[in-house]
Amino acid sequence: MSEDVTSSSDEKTQYIGGEQVAVLLPLPLGAAYDYLVPDGMTVGIGDFVDVPLGHSGSRGVVWGPGAGDVDVAKLKNIKARCVAAPLPPASAAFVDWVSKYTLAMPGAVLRMCMSVPEALDPPKLITAYVASATPKEFKSTAARERVLAVLKDGPPRILSELAMEAGTGTGVVKGLLAAGVIETVSQAPPPPPEPDFAQAGHPLSEAQATAADQMCAAVGDGFSVHVLDGVPGSGKTEVYFEAVARALSMGKQALVMLPEIALGAQWRKRFNDRFGCAPMEWHSDLTRTQKREIWRTISKGGARVVVGARSSLFLPYPDLGLIVADEEHDAAYKQEDGVIYNARDMAVVRANIGKIPIVLASATPSLETAVNAASGRYVTQHLPERHAGAALPDISLIDMRAENLPATRWISDTLRGALTDVIDQGEQAMLFLNRRGYAPLTLCRACGHRLQCPQCSAWLVEHRSLARLQCHHCGHNIPLPEICPNEECGVEGKLAACGPGVERLAEELEGLFPGIRYTLAASDTIQSPRAAEELVKTIEDHDVDVIIGTQIVAKGYHFPMLTLVGVVDADLGLAGGDLRAAERTFQLLYQVAGRAGRDQRQDQKPGRVMMQTYLPDHPVMKALASGNREDFIATETHARETMHMPPFGRLAALIVSGKDENSVERAATALGRAAPHGDGIQVFGPAPAPISMLRGKHRRRLLLKTRKDIAVQPLLKRWIKFANVPRKVRVQIDIDPYSFM
Ligand code: ADP
Ligand code: ZN
Repeated sequence: MSEDVTSSSDEKTQYIGGEQVAVLLPLPLGAAYDYLVPDGMTVGIGDFVDVPLGHSGSRGVVWGPGAGDVDVAKLKNIKARCVAAPLPPASAAFVDWVSKYTLAMPGAVLRMCMSVPEALDPPKLITAYVASATPKEFKSTAARERVLAVLKDGPPRILSELAMEAGTGTGVVKGLLAAGVIETVSQAPPPPPEPDFAQAGHPLSEAQATAADQMCAAVGDGFSVHVLDGVPGSGKTEVYFEAVARALSMGKQALVMLPEIALGAQWRKRFNDRFGCAPMEWHSDLTRTQKREIWRTISKGGARVVVGARSSLFLPYPDLGLIVADEEHDAAYKQEDGVIYNARDMAVVRANIGKIPIVLASATPSLETAVNAASGRYVTQHLPERHAGAALPDISLIDMRAENLPATRWISDTLRGALTDVIDQGEQAMLFLNRRGYAPLTLCRACGHRLQCPQCSAWLVEHRSLARLQCHHCGHNIPLPEICPNEECGVEGKLAACGPGVERLAEELEGLFPGIRYTLAASDTIQSPRAAEELVKTIEDHDVDVIIGTQIVAKGYHFPMLTLVGVVDADLGLAGGDLRAAERTFQLLYQVAGRAGRDQRQDQKPGRVMMQTYLPDHPVMKALASGNREDFIATETHARETMHMPPFGRLAALIVSGKDENSVERAATALGRAAPHGDGIQVFGPAPAPISMLRGKHRRRLLLKTRKDIAVQPLLKRWIKFANVPRKVRVQIDIDPYSFM
């Protein structure tokens, strides 16, 4: 990926009645449509406008001068111009860039910027309460006096706030209203509280201060990329908070991206401690109304610090001064449907367009980032030590070949011994297994039939707590059957769960330690920021001894009592062997290991991490056990370079899908025949995708691999046009693919 951006030319930006303008609509259309500016209206580039389209109409953005390729007589007038702030030029340039790079339709990208179009309507007024201008006689009570006291000292309050502040019910307020003692006013919703950037953060260590100073100096000084590379617990958050404070002090907005915002519970608290108010959050769990208010506030420059998942990149910041992508290596930054893009990479582009610095923070930078850092394109700041000299955990491997476990047990005797120690000492342990549910496969012991999703080529996963089998790809689920669904078999009572998920591990743990207090943390049990907050509290309050979790507990958390991490199946991510299998396994397990022994208050021994593996000689396991990250990165870099794989070459995938298998097969074959060729260009496939059926659609894949200096977009465009794929077959383009499924 290259983030070079050309600045736009200084074309005319205002259009008056009778002129033609191009309006980009947030719809999957090939280009912007021309419209006429009606007499008496002036519109500028970036203005949101309502235009006629089909029967109803649409809301879009004035993108530039009209293309002029439609007969003027056929053009329609813009209906209205929204009063809202225009789409900032940087956002518009970003839409164009993302569209060109990902080959998604520009309107589809714009739709990500206009995810709440109603935010462009004038704000709905809310009802607030004030003391009446002409005071009336009334029957006084203590509660009534408290309400009046609150209003006497402050601005108008909304009902719930007023009642809460006065420590009474809303009925008391309504009673005063009926008595004419207070009255209502309609007003715009109050602006959100402003973070206090002048408040001092924690005193920084020398390494932290050096890193913070460099980043702060970069704020306001154009585009630059900073890799904040520090072991877990080294204080990366504290350091980039300084840069956030600097951006705020310069009157600018700051965006902090987290790969999974639902998990930001501890992050939120730390932000609050540092800046005295909550950050603006942007994630899928918000209500429509919340989204509308936040979107509008941001567009007016009001939300000073936004924390969000990848979609927060597309919010209309008029004056963004800094972007932070925390856990930059995380695969959750890759959006795999709709517009397929990597938010980490696009954040670098957005920073370049806005001429601002971006911080990529991680304990295990992605290979792409590491290579950019090594070449000097990115500036690196290292935090080599945990805060306050806390020791890094001691990582050891458990060779499962020597443990001789029976087929229905997964906790080795060695790990069990370590668990016993930790529990005896009143500390906490985490068992990590990256598999949701009870068992990944259900098999009939009579006929060998494996229970599969009817719509996907995937096994159904047993969720015993729900007594159901579930497809983790499409959500299809059925009650746990008693008899084998294979018509030729139909034998009862022979269905057996194979392999462990976190639920089954919990069962084993309970068997080994009767009465043990544990909690399960997986994406299906922790679905909202609230649930994550409760989980964190349960652990911090020491209401559990063991946390059994999937990757959602791998990142970012600090649990002071957690002194042992047991990785149940360290080899899990290595199966399948896609391009990044080794890298990702290393990153994930290194992150998980980082949860152990975060605090040294109780004693001076470091936390322990034990990884159960059948491959103790694998380079990933060796690197983890020796703590030698640099060696691992060097080996992995060398391997990629030799194979001309990213970041030393380019990849783009085509995913061909459709309901009718024959048409899909034919389209894939046609694409195969039309494949580009030439020096430095290779095409693999078509081949059935590893998930050859998904949600009832058949899937084939092709992979384009090119030399680094060859741009894949023009090749892809010509290729797809040339192959003439029928309408009922869909071809998705995935530039820089992460998933090869
Ligand atoms: P990382 O993001 O590198 O894992 P954090 O920024 O989350 O590390 O810091 C780890 C822990 O150490 C947190 O509890 C944080 O509050 C604490 N910490 C880090 N730096 C300091 C500091 N300079 N002063 C006080 N506490 C710090
Ligand atoms: Zn399915």
